[in-house]
Amino acid sequence: MARTILHLDMDAFYASVEVRDQPELRGQAVIVGGHPTRGVVLTCTYEARAFGVRSAMPMIEAVRRAPHAIVVPPRMKAYAEASAQVFAEMRRITPLVEGLSLDEAFLDVTASLGLFGGTGEAIARLLKARIREETGGLSSSVGVASCKFVAKVASDLRKPDGLVVCFPGDERFFLAPLPIERIFGVGPKTADLLRRHGYFTISDLQEAPLAKLSRVLGPRGANHVVRLAHGDDGRAVEPGRAAKSIGSESTFDRDRIGPRALHEPILRHCEEVARRLRADGLAANALVVKVKYADHSIVTRRAVADAPLVETKELHALALELLAKIPLERVRTRLVGVSATDLEPAGRTQLELFGQRPEKLGAVLDAIEDKFGGGTIRRAGGR
Ligand SMILES: [Mg+2]
Repeated sequence: MARTILHLDMDAFYASVEVRDQPELRGQAVIVGGHPTRGVVLTCTYEARAFGVRSAMPMIEAVRRAPHAIVVPPRMKAYAEASAQVFAEMRRITPLVEGLSLDEAFLDVTASLGLFGGTGEAIARLLKARIREETGGLSSSVGVASCKFVAKVASDLRKPDGLVVCFPGDERFFLAPLPIERIFGVGPKTADLLRRHGYFTISDLQEAPLAKLSRVLGPRGANHVVRLAHGDDGRAVEPGRAAKSIGSESTFDRDRIGPRALHEPILRHCEEVARRLRADGLAANALVVKVKYADHSIVTRRAVADAPLVETKELHALALELLAKIPLERVRTRLVGVSATDLEPAGRTQLELFGQRPEKLGAVLDAIEDKFGGGTIRRAGGR
């Protein structure tokens, strides 16, 4: 059955939140980023992009390109709040929302069409308007198509405040003129390789004999690329990642006495939880510490984090604060556990923190720590 998929992406999200909250920034080149010489750009306004500033660009380069730009430190808590509003609006339309980051998601609205005006375009308009209203003016771009790949391509075509529809059956024509890099999985290296063999646009790939393309990309790669080039992407929208919690706990061989004896196991559990958060691309907005006493009674303490947590040391700092609120002096404990809850897709900042390039991790952390003396990202005090 034909599906109607939306891809929604907020426009210059962090920067737009800053402009919303500081109206004097409107119309200015604004960069959300860290340390002026060692940090990276997290996001910037379109006015800054006009000068060639891009996300993940070193700050030193960004400031060289746009010396007049206003640099604003990141406020993850504000972005997480706006993100929660955006996701709430999407879930009013359909439960089939798959978050990709704080500001980006796929929605399968096939079953919601009857309820909201009959077309994907009508739903996209409604959603954009509601998000603007609820978030105090933030704009988004939406792509509407019969599959995820084409919807994602479409949302990016007319940013900011875009709404692009690819009607079922038009996928080939829609994709044909676009450069090959638009294809999911075709990075700069593959694109160079393809160009050396004469493939420049998606239309070149649509017309390529599979056998010939297989000699360049291998049979699997060629198959993948040709299918997407034809707008053939059967992947389902997979919701629900944000609902679960991730926990780790252990029962001791022998009861432990006093709080200090729990510090080491708490650290191990935080490491395990952080590892699984990373594996699932998630961040936690709250943390729970659980203790079971020798008499089997259970005490838990929960705290909401100032900013979404992804790292062991963030989780650990908050876990120790929670542990301090549990009566443990001269008490025998048989089990201790940590669980991360109120999960959400990790935002770009967090993904950068554990991206493939460790030097970037250092840069972002340094940037934020230098600027705020161990503030924003690391601080995780509950209340
Ligand atoms: Mg975005």
